[in-house]
Amino acid sequence: MTRVAIIGAGPSGLAQLRAFQSAKAAGAEIPEIVCYEAQANWGGLWNYSWRTGTDEAGFPNHGSMYRYLWSNGPKEGLEFADYSFEEHFGKQIASYPPRAVLFDYIEGRVKKAGVRDWIRFNNRVRDVRYDEATGKFSLIVRDTVKDAETTEEFDNVIVASGHFSTPNVPYYPGFESFKGRILHAHDFRDALEFAGQDILILGTSYSAEDIGSQCWKYGCRSVTVAHRTAPMGYKWPENWAEVPALVRVEGKTAHFKDGSSRDVDAIILCTGYKHHFPFLPDDLRLKTANRLATADLYKGVVYVPNPKLFYLGMQDQWFTFNMFDAQAWWVRDCIMGMIALPDRATMEADVAARVAAEDALEDDYACIWYQGDYTKELIDETDYPSFDVEGACKAFKEWKGHKKKDIMKFRDNSYKSVITGTMAPKHHTPWKDALDDGLETYLKN
Ligand SMILES: Cc1cc2nc3c(=O)[nH]c(=O)nc-3n(C[C@H](O)[C@H](O)[C@H](O)COP(=O)(O)OP(=O)(O)OC[C@H]3O[C@@H](n4cnc5c(N)ncnc54)[C@H](O)[C@@H]3O)c2cc1C
Repeated sequence: MTRVAIIGAGPSGLAQLRAFQSAKAAGAEIPEIVCYEAQANWGGLWNYSWRTGTDEAGFPNHGSMYRYLWSNGPKEGLEFADYSFEEHFGKQIASYPPRAVLFDYIEGRVKKAGVRDWIRFNNRVRDVRYDEATGKFSLIVRDTVKDAETTEEFDNVIVASGHFSTPNVPYYPGFESFKGRILHAHDFRDALEFAGQDILILGTSYSAEDIGSQCWKYGCRSVTVAHRTAPMGYKWPENWAEVPALVRVEGKTAHFKDGSSRDVDAIILCTGYKHHFPFLPDDLRLKTANRLATADLYKGVVYVPNPKLFYLGMQDQWFTFNMFDAQAWWVRDCIMGMIALPDRATMEADVAARVAAEDALEDDYACIWYQGDYTKELIDETDYPSFDVEGACKAFKEWKGHKKKDIMKFRDNSYKSVITGTMAPKHHTPWKDALDDGLETYLKN
């Protein structure tokens, strides 16, 4: 029997398990599936870890999420087509759920599917090798609880290990003697730690915007955000400023490119993450920038140099859970022989065409539709329940408009589900006043 290994049980790996399980439920004979998950539970980044630095077993901690994190985009853009929010919660809920609520939703679908037994928890893949002679992969895996290593062979490997866990950490002169705290967003856990402080954020990504907003919400004295190319440009609160790039720090003073300076208590590096696969040798390892059209992946999932190897969720993400589903269903059909792969030259041409199309995109709206079209392309080639992807793109467009209108109030808006067609209710408390992000508080009427 064909054996398939899935590395990681975050949203991408769980999508893959659900894809195979749905084929099995429909009566198909599926391969033997083994999913290795380094952590003790599923959910990936949504499985909150208070730890920073290393995990229980001494490996780099995977978690990058923090307390009080609320979805940064509307849930209507990520809803599973085969498992709506209404099905899970028994009612429609507001549009920007906190982390615990989304974790519950992700977990609900796979609990219902009954795939937990397919996962080996506390099992970290340490090494993957491909043998040309046998046409098989061998995986060396450490069970960090038993403290024992095993080696097993597989016909296919699906890498679903995420790419927002290994921080990209820049250096600026004076960092080594800064008289405050310097941390990367990966290690940010609780905004309350910065109450009363002047914080400097480097970067203009989601992390910069959201960590700054969290610190503002939980009472920091001021937020300064330094940008290298362009400011984020939202209408920020009074104690928030955007400044040009950091040049150096002296003591507690940060100096910027325009000659201005500020005293700060903490510097938070929202400077992105690296695609990092320490368990893969050079010939199997994806080397790509964080972009919509990844390098070397046919249809965004098949590793062109070795098409028995697949990657899920490696793109920069507007779409998340539903795009992972589209990829997982497509990969399943490829492994089960329902989709045939073309020759290498055709796969390389596909990658090049996607890269060129992304390079030609003019703004964020075009990027949203680009990824929506990609998701739809994959869905159309499988039996994943089709849904109104255009409607999801429109929800993202509205969301961007709401952010421009009022960055501290965008989470108070509601959108229509593209799966059930119902409108989300307004949340009972405006985001900026909702200090408790727990599931029960969020769900109460
Ligand atoms: C701070 C932050 C906020 C975010 N907010 C949102 C949001 O609001 N909405 C949204 O849609 N998306 C958000 N995202 C995007 C996020 O990437 C996706 O939602 C999703 O978690 C990606 O799923 P994944 O399964 O690809 O990766 P991950 O969630 O990272 O899961 C990967 C899994 O692989 C496991 N793993 C890694 N290496 C190994 C190994 N060697 N052996 C075994 N297991 C391994 C990990 O333990 C982990 O469980 C956010 C990301 C970050 C960092």
